[in-house]
Amino acid sequence: MTTRLHFAQIAILTPLHQLFTYKIPEGLQDKVRPGMRLVVPFRNKKMVGFCLGLTTEAPKNFDEKKIREIIEVKDDFETFSPKMIELLNWLADYYLAPIGEVCRAALPSKLLQAEGSAKATPRLQEEEHSHFHQTEEFVLTKEQQEALKTILSFDKLRTSDDFNAAHPEQSRRVESSPPILLHGITGSGKTEIYLQCIKKILQSGRQAILLVPEIGLTPQLIGRVQSRLNTEVAIYHSGLSDAWRMVYWEKMRKGEIHVVVGTRSALFAPFQNLGAIIIDEEHDSSYKQAEGGFYYHARDAAIVRGKIENIPVILGSATPSLESFYNAKKGKYCYIPLTQRATGAALPTVSIIDLRQNKFVDGSHTLSPPLKEAISERLYRGEQSLLLLNRRGFANFLLCEDCGHTPRCPNCSITLTYHKKPPLLICHYCDYKIGTAANCPECQSAAIKPLGEGTQALEEELKKNFPQAKILRLDKDTAAKREHRHHVLNEMKRGKADILIGTQIVAKGHDFPNITLVGVVLADTTLHLPDFRAHEKTFQLLTQVAGRSGRDKKAGHVLIQTFQPDNFSLTCTREHNYAKFSEQELMMRETLQYPPFSRLAQIRIQGANEQKVKETAKKLRRYFGERENISILGPAAAPLAKLRGKYRWQILLKSQNSKMLKHLLTHAQQFLDREKITQVQLQIDVDCLHLM
Ligand code: ADP
Ligand code: ZN
Ligand code: ZN
Repeated sequence: MTTRLHFAQIAILTPLHQLFTYKIPEGLQDKVRPGMRLVVPFRNKKMVGFCLGLTTEAPKNFDEKKIREIIEVKDDFETFSPKMIELLNWLADYYLAPIGEVCRAALPSKLLQAEGSAKATPRLQEEEHSHFHQTEEFVLTKEQQEALKTILSFDKLRTSDDFNAAHPEQSRRVESSPPILLHGITGSGKTEIYLQCIKKILQSGRQAILLVPEIGLTPQLIGRVQSRLNTEVAIYHSGLSDAWRMVYWEKMRKGEIHVVVGTRSALFAPFQNLGAIIIDEEHDSSYKQAEGGFYYHARDAAIVRGKIENIPVILGSATPSLESFYNAKKGKYCYIPLTQRATGAALPTVSIIDLRQNKFVDGSHTLSPPLKEAISERLYRGEQSLLLLNRRGFANFLLCEDCGHTPRCPNCSITLTYHKKPPLLICHYCDYKIGTAANCPECQSAAIKPLGEGTQALEEELKKNFPQAKILRLDKDTAAKREHRHHVLNEMKRGKADILIGTQIVAKGHDFPNITLVGVVLADTTLHLPDFRAHEKTFQLLTQVAGRSGRDKKAGHVLIQTFQPDNFSLTCTREHNYAKFSEQELMMRETLQYPPFSRLAQIRIQGANEQKVKETAKKLRRYFGERENISILGPAAAPLAKLRGKYRWQILLKSQNSKMLKHLLTHAQQFLDREKITQVQLQIDVDCLHLM
């Protein structure tokens, strides 16, 4: 007998939570290595698989005769490095995700096809190459300098070339770096620090990943990165064609490209010698995968990759997530604050407009007199205005127009969702229900009613009021088309428009020097999302959008319209006071044991048959019973109770003990099989963010 490794453990692109053992045929013995892409027979098909491990022996209760053989080795290189395999395994384990789905998320789809070659042939002019600008480096401000120095001090591999040349044997890192939270106010020059940090990494012959939120990947940013680093940059975003994704992947693997800027999946860039991962706007919820079979958080996965690779991971934000901030506070992350704007520009003045005091003649709450006045002033001065119109969500809620009160769940502290038929207020976490009262429980007014449709009419109202103004609009529907988005933003940049109306899409990353007014049409829509993070989201969104104004010489002004002028997420926005906001919000989280003081996981039960979905949810809840150290909320209908023909119910699990939580989730995962329940699917979302 030889001591050859005869068997391979293979991840296959199926929703199954296991690796499959295949025999390596004689002819392929020398060719199969961990990380390689193979073709294997699976059920009656040929499928792509990834070798994640080799063994000498077949598993014990295995039938030697039945074991199947690998058909083909696809490449002469490893698709996944040993470190990448470690990351994939970690992710599959932590998120209770099928390993095949994890592999799928990490690769261009061309690499997932059993037939044909992955060679990509896109037309090269297809991908946008934006106007280069600002090639020279800034002299860093004192704060920026300090920040960069601290970041680089965590890079144990000395980045100076002569050091490397003199001590090649010492080019190894010793201690591991903690994640770094770069907390810099809007315009403080975080991007400048990223760029100079990446430059240092490149100079030492290593590679870097810069993650940005989906809509943060603007042509402006791409142009800035490309021109400053003076090297080819891979650009990964959700709209990228398969062919281009393949081209970039291949170039990164071969070491022809050393930097990737991109959304979520850029995290899996196949670099051989990664030097740093930077996550811009780390609090942004688009880093959390919300669909498909694998609900990972790219920021958290980046931290794990950083640990495996032993490199610094930098989380940048003006409004850090409370999870990250709390980790910094506890000393788990290194905390670097930037408190000044790099250009010396002042932060905008923020005013809150009390809609309760601004009853408009026509009964609408769209444009208060102060906001109208401010817009008209900008038009007169030839400056631009940005109006944030956060649409009323799919979940309706009651609002008292006299006192601003909105009914909340006594157990979960989230806003109760209003249902018309029969008239009920329901908590989507714990299923608490009460009837609606004719009068406001706070002030007895009869003006408590579902939030009106008035806000949708903003564009019309603007046109009526300012017939001479050039108005552009950017929302989820129109922004989905990249060309349109770029067109709108370009028009703004070139001063071709007076007013830009948009949903949160307009809040991020854009740098328009001539915007001096930001109007938030109705802060309450975000404030009353049925989500325990509603206040955090409001503070982040409003701070972001406020940061769009007065970025240049001219001072900026922000007007926030609301029925809850005293709400602390608004008053803290007005004061630009993250410290105060986080302190108060953390206190609330602690009292209710929400993250970061606990871990939260969601089990979603869905299917086409409403009754069956509901019954299964209740059955699962009964099966859980009462557990020590885990609180179980629900089942309750999801806020989005029906989506694409499927009814959705949810159960929330909350615990400080992540081991116990995981244990319970593992049991839940097997529940449908065990109970032989069909036509219902169960999705598990660990560290859920989108509780819709
Ligand atoms: P952030 O990413 O924190 O919002 P940016 O890096 O985009 O900040 O910088 C904000 C603005 O300040 C940009 O217009 C940028 O060109 C400018 N800037 C950045 N660093 C400096 C500096 N050291 N000196 C002068 N201007 C700077
Ligand atoms: Zn009231
Ligand atoms: Zn509740």
